[in-house]
Amino acid sequence: MLLVEGLHAWYGPIDILQGVDLEVRRGEIVCLVGRNGAGKTTTLRSIMGLVPRTAGRVSVAGQALLGQPAHRRLAAGVGFVPEERRIVPGLTVRDNLRLGLLASPLRRREADRIREMAAIFPRLAERFDQIAVTMSGGEQQMLAIARAMIADPRLILLDEPSEGIMPVLVDEMLALFVRMKRAGTTILLVEQNVELALGIADRAYVMDQGMIVHHAGAAELLADTAIQERYCAV
Ligand code: ATP
Repeated sequence: MLLVEGLHAWYGPIDILQGVDLEVRRGEIVCLVGRNGAGKTTTLRSIMGLVPRTAGRVSVAGQALLGQPAHRRLAAGVGFVPEERRIVPGLTVRDNLRLGLLASPLRRREADRIREMAAIFPRLAERFDQIAVTMSGGEQQMLAIARAMIADPRLILLDEPSEGIMPVLVDEMLALFVRMKRAGTTILLVEQNVELALGIADRAYVMDQGMIVHHAGAAELLADTAIQERYCAV
């Protein structure tokens, strides 16, 4: 579903990504881990076309995307939940959700899609008319995920969705990712909480200094304390 080959990215003169190779197969949950500053967020942002200078190859379901504008990624069925959430604070939950359909052919079925999101996210459904910024951090994160899901992406990139969220909502969120996977969505997950992420992932890549330094099955990495201590300690 997602193939990244020799991906480089620069912020000004500094080359942050130094040839990232990774692959996410259809229907998998793949986790990208590594300590702060390893380049995980930059990898997701580069896949989304949000880093101005990149090189290498990124393709989604065989369609080459690097160099294409970000809205092309959305049209190709890629959803993105950025670390900083980027919900529109002054708009209601419903209007934030509607924004997720702006670039989507599903826009014509807006009412249906909003109903479907209400069924998946009952906690949000109770708050559709609430101004987004007045919700808790966890609820805002759910909204950011729902806004990406409303366009029915086949691949979703999630950047540290559990950050700053109370444990009960994190559990709810992880259960949701497993349901999304069962429903056919492919997931690339960046997560600081390695144990949580590996608990639901199929495979994992470990990043350090802008490169992939290790990859393994999730259970295998979960048992590999040496690699975790070397690369995943914050
Ligand atoms: P974290 O878990 O802290 O988010 P990360 O693995 O996601 O870490 P990135 O955010 O991708 O790491 O950062 C990788 C490197 O790129 C860091 O050294 C960071 O300082 C640098 N960097 C990130 N964004 C920018 C930017 N907009 N301008 C310049 N340097 C940046």
